Amino acid sequence: MTETRVTAGEPLSWDDLAARARVARERAYAPYSGFLVGAALEADDGRVFTGCNVENASYPVGTCAERVALGNAVVSGARAFSRIAIVTSGALPAPPCGMCRQALAEFGRKLEVMSIGTNGESVVWPLRDLLPANFSLERMAAPAETGP
Ligand SMILES: [Zn+2]
Repeated sequence: MTETRVTAGEPLSWDDLAARARVARERAYAPYSGFLVGAALEADDGRVFTGCNVENASYPVGTCAERVALGNAVVSGARAFSRIAIVTSGALPAPPCGMCRQALAEFGRKLEVMSIGTNGESVVWPLRDLLPANFSLERMAAPAETGP
C-alpha cells in the first residue's frame, strides 16, 4: 500500500508531494501510449496516497493515475482530500481528464490540483475551476411533490 503519513506540524510542501508522484510515475504501466503519469493525493489527515496510470490492451479498460490514487485512498478509509500532485512524462503540465475531475469532485470540491511537466513548469488549479459543475448526488434527487 502506498500510504505515508506526515507527522503533525510538518506540512508537506508541493515539492514533497510532487516527489511522491514522481516515484509513483516510475511504476506507470503505459505500453500503449508511452505517457507515464504518477499522482500523489493528500488526505485532510495528512496521509498521502499514490497512483500511476494502468493501461490495458482493451484501451477503455485503462485507468488514470488520479483514480488509482483515489481508490487507494478510499480503500484505506480516507474520504476528504486537500491536494493532489500530478507528474507526467509530457513536456507541459497536464490537468486531470474529465473523468478524473468528476471522480475527485465526488469527495469535495476544495481540492487543489497541481501538475508538473517535464519542462519544469507547474500549474495549480482549484478543482472547482477545472470542473465548475460536477454531477452529484443532489442532482439525482427526485422532484418535490407538487400539489394540484
Ligand atoms: Zn483521468
